[in-house]
Amino acid sequence: MSALDSLKADLSGLQIEDNPQIVKQKSRDFFWYSPVLKQQLDHVTGDLVVTPKSEAEVIRVLKSCYAHDVPVTVRGAGTGNYGQAMPLSGGVILNLAELNKVKEIRPGVVVAEAGAIISKIDEETRAHSGQELRLHPSTYRTATIGGFIAGGSGGIGSINWGGLRDLGNVIRLRVLTLEAEPRVLEMTGEDLHKVMHAYGTNGVITEVEMPLTAAYDWVDVVVGFDAFMDGVRFADAVGNQDGLLLKELAPISAPLPHDYFLRHQKYIRKDQSVVVCMVAPFAMDAFAAFVGRQPKASILYRSDTVDEDAKKGLPPVYELAWNHTTLRGLRVDPAITYLQVLYPFPNHVEKVRIMTDLLGDEVPAHLEFVRFDGKITCFGLPVVRYTTEERLNEIMRLHEENGCPIFNPHRYTLEEGGMKQTDDVQLAFKREADPKGLLNPGKMIAWEDPNYDYSSDKLFLFPGLKRA
Ligand code: FAD
Repeated sequence: MSALDSLKADLSGLQIEDNPQIVKQKSRDFFWYSPVLKQQLDHVTGDLVVTPKSEAEVIRVLKSCYAHDVPVTVRGAGTGNYGQAMPLSGGVILNLAELNKVKEIRPGVVVAEAGAIISKIDEETRAHSGQELRLHPSTYRTATIGGFIAGGSGGIGSINWGGLRDLGNVIRLRVLTLEAEPRVLEMTGEDLHKVMHAYGTNGVITEVEMPLTAAYDWVDVVVGFDAFMDGVRFADAVGNQDGLLLKELAPISAPLPHDYFLRHQKYIRKDQSVVVCMVAPFAMDAFAAFVGRQPKASILYRSDTVDEDAKKGLPPVYELAWNHTTLRGLRVDPAITYLQVLYPFPNHVEKVRIMTDLLGDEVPAHLEFVRFDGKITCFGLPVVRYTTEERLNEIMRLHEENGCPIFNPHRYTLEEGGMKQTDDVQLAFKREADPKGLLNPGKMIAWEDPNYDYSSDKLFLFPGLKRA
């Protein structure tokens, strides 16, 4: 009997799918955003999808996978875009879609199962007591809260609250280990960093406790500029207006807004750059007054003044921002790709100017303003008009040479997409929680190859990657 057959026998009574087409579909995420990852990972598939309905069922799956040496890759909604959720060595896709209950809401706090869809959590907390999550990715309507914590970094709300991994933005995680007898751990404070943004390589999150803030009917606003850098300076200035409550602040360079935001196209000229904003309704008059003080800015669209008919069919503006900008671009021009860049404070505006002057329309800019250690600064998710991998690497090198670190979205490992160094805390926890190395194999270089030289600039090729 093969290991998989023994596993299936052990798991009888659980929801198991082994139809190869459905398994392949559930083995994919948004890796295809990257032409590099698309080439490397297109063939990747798991062997079965198991969809537990309770934490007790998750424990059964983990225990059995440990006994039969079968790899386990956790899946939330599969919206990660670095191949985080792709099962490189096959095995079980642990689909948490049915672990989706909101369990408790109290002032400032929500407790939910890890597979809950983020917007569904907000629906419940809003209805309960006018509260909402501080942060969400632009995939608000599809992504799970557990997937956001294990695979994401920040997003809408980061202009106020910083990143997901900033202390205080997650309160508690309940985590299962992959051992002969899986343990149930409750993590808080410093311990949270063991599993946050670890791509599910060292534990399975089953429950989250998150802070809440006051909910508003956020007003979507698009402000137009003839010159992109005027938009950047505006964003920097408005982000620093302490009395204005914003939830999103993203300058995007012409011609992207007109060319990619097809439903909003009627509001935007082709040569116009924009700043996409979400503003609290009570702050709208003050926000409009601030725009009025800027001779080069004009409000092109605000959702609180257009009539309901005109609004129909328009996506919320958070679905024009973060990686939705890239997604909308890919629908119009499948040849593009993108990068993730940090423009370090306090010279972020000047760094943006240098890079946009240097790269022009080959790399049209898209910035996201965020609060980073209390300072307003910006990250970039610039679009790249892709030609070759060599040129893409050259564009990354130019950023690094100009003091703008790249978080490479064309790599599937934690280290290459992040700080290019071993995360000792996550590695130590993997040794403890996943001694056989069965959780999401191939994503943590420090586990696979402790002597790997991050400065070599070579691509890490996971030897366990199953060939097509
Ligand atoms: P998945 O893709 O299913 O999983 C992500 C990773 O976490 C995988 O490695 C998976 O194995 C692991 N994982 C999932 N659930 C668990 C669990 N319960 N326990 C342990 N490990 C787990 N990201 C941002 O941070 N901000 C954004 O604004 C943003 N915008 C995006 C826009 C688009 C159009 C796309 C395609 C992606 C975007 N992303 C963004 C990336 C992605 O959407 C987020 O990371 C998202 O929150 C992932 O959630 P998910 O449920 O789809 O997770």
